[in-house]
Formats: sequence, C-alpha cells, structure tokens
Amino acid sequence: VAEFPLPAETRVFTVANQKGGVGKTTTTVNLAAALAKTGAKVLVIDLDPQGNASTAVGADHRAEVLSVYDILIRDAALEDVVQKSAEFEGLYCAPATIHLAGAEIELVPLVARELRLRESLDRYLAREAENGHPYNYVFIDCPPSLGLLTINAFVAAREVLIPIQCEYYALEGLSQLLSNISLIERHLNPSLAVSTILLTMYDGRTRLASQVADDVRAHFPVETLTAVIPRSVRISEAPSYGQTVISYDPQSPGSLSYLEAASEIARKGVHTNG
Ligand code: ADP
Ligand code: MG
Repeated sequence: VAEFPLPAETRVFTVANQKGGVGKTTTTVNLAAALAKTGAKVLVIDLDPQGNASTAVGADHRAEVLSVYDILIRDAALEDVVQKSAEFEGLYCAPATIHLAGAEIELVPLVARELRLRESLDRYLAREAENGHPYNYVFIDCPPSLGLLTINAFVAAREVLIPIQCEYYALEGLSQLLSNISLIERHLNPSLAVSTILLTMYDGRTRLASQVADDVRAHFPVETLTAVIPRSVRISEAPSYGQTVISYDPQSPGSLSYLEAASEIARKGVHTNG
C-alpha cells in the first residue's frame, strides 16, 4: 500500500450519528487502521461505554483497566490510558470500560464538564509533539446519543465525520444532528465543522441504496466521499477476532473500500469554516 500524505497538524475527528447501528464504530476503527497501515500515527478514543471500538483494535478494556472514564472523571492523563494496538505500528487506543456508562451522570456536577476531553487531549497531543512523536489523526467514537459524552467529543474535535447507512430512514434525524452540531459550534467550539460524510453498508443490488446515496450526495456534494463501504460479512466478522478488517482480510472489498475512503480523507485535507 502506498503511503498517504500526512497532515501538517493533527486532525481530530468525531464520528457521530445519533442513530445506533449505522457503522460509527466500524468506520472509526477501520479508517484509523487504514491510516496507520499507510504510515500515519493514529489515536482511537473510545467514548462508547460498550467498548466496541476498544475490542476491534484489540485493546484491553476490562473494568480494572485505566480508561477514558478516568480521563473524564478522575483527571487521569492520556499517557497513562493509551494502549498500543498490536495490529499496526502507529495505531493507539484510549479504551472505554464499563465505568463509562456512569460518566454521563457523574459529569453533570463537574466544573467545565463539556471541556474535559479537549483539555486532556490537547495536553497529550502537545506533549507527544514536543517529544518528537506527533499524532497525525485522532478518531473519537461516540455513543448513539447526544449526551455529555458526545458533547465532549464535539468540543475536542475540529471535524465531524458522519457515517450514513444506505437505507430508507437514512436522512431522518440528520437535520437534528446538524442543528446540534451548529449549537456546539456557536457556544462551545467555533472551529467545529462537518468535513466528511461516508456512505456505509451499501448494497449495490438495491435501487433504494443508490437512491439514498444520490440524495446524500445532492445535499452534501463536497463532504460526501466518493468511496462507499459495501455491506460485507468480512467487515462484521473482524471484531470477533479483535481485529479490523484491514488486517483480518486486507484484500476483501470491505478492507479496500475503507483504504480508499482513508486515502480520500488524507488527500482532501482539512475543511474549515468559511
Ligand atoms: P454503530 O457504532 O453506529 O452502532 P457499528 O459500527 O457497531 O454501528 O455497526 C453495527 C453492526 O453492523 C455491527 O454488528 C457491525 O459489525 C455491522 N456492520 C458495520 N458496517 C458493516 C458493513 N459495511 N457490512 C456489514 N456489516 C457491517
Ligand atoms: Mg458504536
């Protein structure tokens, strides 16, 4: 695989969609693995108490392990939480443990509760850069809700990546997501922008899938990637081996489509507001 161009500064993505089961976690880990495979240093931050992203990159996320929970609630440092993935050189993960399920409520009375992830991440990224090991990408996997965990992700990121499942209700709920993002942009993070939309679970045999894809492209011509992720059993099998499809079955259509999407992201560079 050829190397992709590296960004001048760390690009921090939040992968969000308040619908469950649309491919957020799958997209997070496979794009991260694809970019790591092609020479980037990449951090996956698992903000979903279910810990599926941690599982998929083979990170230890048993209850006793230091996790994103300790970052948000206990002022732990990311240095002490981040694990190196065995899958690719350059792939790292801040895991979620079951404790994160309580964080949504435990955050409520804390000072600067919306800013806790950003403050911790900014410190960590600055230190890694100072030490000569800068990160190129960060991908934050969100739970399927707009609570304080997801708000922390939006505040920590510059870019939002929205995976959209190619099915009938795909666009429903999207306008709510977009208006939530603009509220965050207005009040908490002026540099936040939806930079990337990725069509997932595409079944080329159905007319519906191509109609949904056309619809999304009509609404978001710049943001929507040309690469489309097909529905593929190999993609859904990979996590049960503690792997992404990028290493589980590198030549499968699912793996190649995520590599293609990663290449587009790398080449498109950063979209900023205005
Ligand atoms: P979310 O994080 O949005 O809830 P997931 O990434 O966990 O969604 O995906 C939901 C389910 O669909 C998982 O079982 C996953 O393995 C499966 N899945 C995701 N993408 C694909 C795909 N392209 N083809 C087949 N199965 C997929
Ligand atoms: Mg998920």
